[in-house]
Order: sequence, then C-alpha cells, then structure tokens
Amino acid sequence: MTSPIIAIPCRHDASARHHRLPMQGMGQAYLSAVIAAGGVPVLLPLGLDEPRLLRALDRADGLLLAGGEDIAPALFGEEPHPKLGKVDADRDAVEVALARRALEAGLPLLAICRGIQVLNVAAGGTLYQDIPSQVPGALKHNCFYPEYPRDHIAHAVAIAPDSRLAAIVGQTAESLAAVPVNSLHHQSVKAVGTGLQVVAQAPDGIVEAVEATGEAWVLAVQWHPEELAASRADMAALFRAFVEAAGR
Ligand code: MN
Repeated sequence: MTSPIIAIPCRHDASARHHRLPMQGMGQAYLSAVIAAGGVPVLLPLGLDEPRLLRALDRADGLLLAGGEDIAPALFGEEPHPKLGKVDADRDAVEVALARRALEAGLPLLAICRGIQVLNVAAGGTLYQDIPSQVPGALKHNCFYPEYPRDHIAHAVAIAPDSRLAAIVGQTAESLAAVPVNSLHHQSVKAVGTGLQVVAQAPDGIVEAVEATGEAWVLAVQWHPEELAASRADMAALFRAFVEAAGR
C-alpha cells in the first residue's frame, strides 16, 4: 500500500494565541517527519466518545502518539507527586483508549516522549512522575525548550542489539552502544507494562525505548526523533520503518 494513513491525536492549545480561541493541533515536526517518510498524517480531535474515536482509528493504518503533558498518576494507581506537571484528562483518556485498541489490533504504533509513557500505562505499567526527585544520580533529562534547542543532544542511549530498534537505527548509527539523543522529559517508564520490553536505556538506567514482545510493530522512544529526522539518517529511518509497517 502506498501512502498509509497515520492517525495522530491532537493536543489542546491553551495559550493566548489565536485571540484566545481554544484550539487543537499537533506540532509541525511530527507531521513533517511522517510526510517525509511517505505517510499521510490525519489528526484526530480530542472530545470524541470512545466508539467514534475507535471508528476513526480503525480507518487508519498506523497510530502515532506524540509528546506533551504529564500523565495523570491516578491512571497507574499513584497519588500526584509535588513535581507533577500539567495534565490533560481528555488527552489521557483518548490516547490510552487508542493505545489499547492499537495493541489489541496489532496496528503499527510509534510512540514518542509522552507517547511511550501513555503506551506503558495503557499496558499496565507505571511511571516515575519526576526523575530529578525520584531517581537519585540520574542524568539531566529535562533539557526543555527554549532554554535548550529541541535538537540539543543531552545524552546517549544504549540500544539492545537484537531489537527492532537496533535493526532500524543500526543501518546508519555508528554504534548501538551510544546513540546520541535529545531529551525533553522529566517523567519516564518505571515498571514496564505487560507485553512490552525495554530496548534502550540511558547511561543512568532510565528507560529510553520499549517495544512489543510479540510480532506487532510497536515501538516507543523517550527522546524526540521528529526533531532530529531532518538532519539524521538513523532518526529518519525510524519514521520510514513505521510508515512502511503501516503500509503492509
Ligand atoms: Mn532522556
């Protein structure tokens, strides 16, 4: 199949732009990376009930879960930590429902940053709500814009050699033991969800990528490949492999 349809749930724009009109949308970098890889990004609005949401997903060939707010800790059975950031209950509900359906249906799924956290929680896993206060000795993972450019290389990740991620990135990366990545997060995977396995970690042990243990094309990364894809062959390959899987 050519030009597979990639469903991407929107996020709310609560800024004062657009004359304070409430808006929904998604970052240009995600759309550009999917378009460059040969896919057709289709945005799903927040606010649909689950039957209509899943009807839309069933028309899609793949699902992309993008970056954004923190996940409400009630979804993984914890009280909010004092350092928990902004949450969006609508977006949590939409994305967890979509992730569960994609896992059930074996739909190709690429999850990025918040997306890896949503996927993990949807699969029954838990999160560190704030790495700096909950993981002693952790590296700096919260290199946020505008203090740092979005493509700022914050740390390396070591990728498991026998993983799907290694097969994709390893074609062009110099060494799977130290792939340089950006890092715009303060939450991360704690207990890994059912049916997922860790396939990349930062030098401090923070989980940076997970995959499905089975045959389904399910890959989630904690960094932001969409900000690197225009300049790096290994990160562009991630989007190409996703779109190719969606086209099969
Ligand atoms: Mn990181």
